[in-house]
Amino acid sequence: MSIPAPKPAAPSLPPVVEFRGDVSKTFNAGTSKAYTAIHHINFRIDDVPGRGEFIAIIGPSGCGKSTLINLIAGFSTHIPATTGEVLVRGEPVTGPGRDRGMIFQRYSSFPHRTVLQNVTFGLDIHRRELDLTKDAINDMAMEMIRKVGLSGHEYKYPSQLSGGMQQRVAIARTLILKPSIILMDEPFSALDEPTRIGMQKLIIDMWHDIHATVFIITHSITEAVYLGDRVWIFTKGPGTIAVEIKDLIPPSQGVDPLEIQERQEFKHALEAVAREFKRVTG
Ligand code: ADP
Ligand code: MG
Repeated sequence: MSIPAPKPAAPSLPPVVEFRGDVSKTFNAGTSKAYTAIHHINFRIDDVPGRGEFIAIIGPSGCGKSTLINLIAGFSTHIPATTGEVLVRGEPVTGPGRDRGMIFQRYSSFPHRTVLQNVTFGLDIHRRELDLTKDAINDMAMEMIRKVGLSGHEYKYPSQLSGGMQQRVAIARTLILKPSIILMDEPFSALDEPTRIGMQKLIIDMWHDIHATVFIITHSITEAVYLGDRVWIFTKGPGTIAVEIKDLIPPSQGVDPLEIQERQEFKHALEAVAREFKRVTG
């Protein structure tokens, strides 16, 4: 039993996410503390039916990367944009929604809930509207826990898990809701390198199942090139998308990320993006 996957969009449907009319965000506007975090942001991400897309965002610290994805998430700390319009499937974003899932660097899970309770949480909230029984939710959660490699840890609390395992919980509790948009804010930055590679593999493998549009902020250019179908390089704050690099190496399911990252074509792509990054932010 599972929630039906979102139907593939017909070509005439509005873009998955669109920023138009020069989106900007000025915090504390109209006060002496006014600070413009991002400006002149315009883009549209169309649906790629049956696949979705990976957008990797890199840029100097404080340039407004989180601000951009928080606007998509619809967090009350960030909406509305100061200028321009932020649209998800053609509708202005007025708050968070089940169609958008967020994974942070840390603390994405409830410390006082077990792994299982964390994973069932979103479905419990929407149980009536989804017409799911408690048993069905439990089964779905157990299956998701298995998929992220946490079988046997269902009744542990996040504090009893390693950082990598905690991020697996965060991924499970987000993906079980089958969001069509996944927002990840430096999700693997706190993890050691081998764990991080394992997470990259997990996210690629799971993404092939759910066909979501993914925005991932990372400070690793290698990770951006590996995961991204396109990479956006932000300028220093106030940030804007200075460069978009498309048609990168397509991430392969079931292949060891390290193996791909050793390939010559990957290294060339990485060099090209690193050069652009230096030019834009240097
Ligand atoms: P990044 O994710 O690229 O490091 P952020 O989007 O978090 O950057 O922040 C961009 C700028 O906006 C920073 O200077 C930050 O201090 C400021 N900022 C972010 N959120 C708020 C807020 N809620 N109130 C005031 N300033 C903020
Ligand atoms: Mg940030």
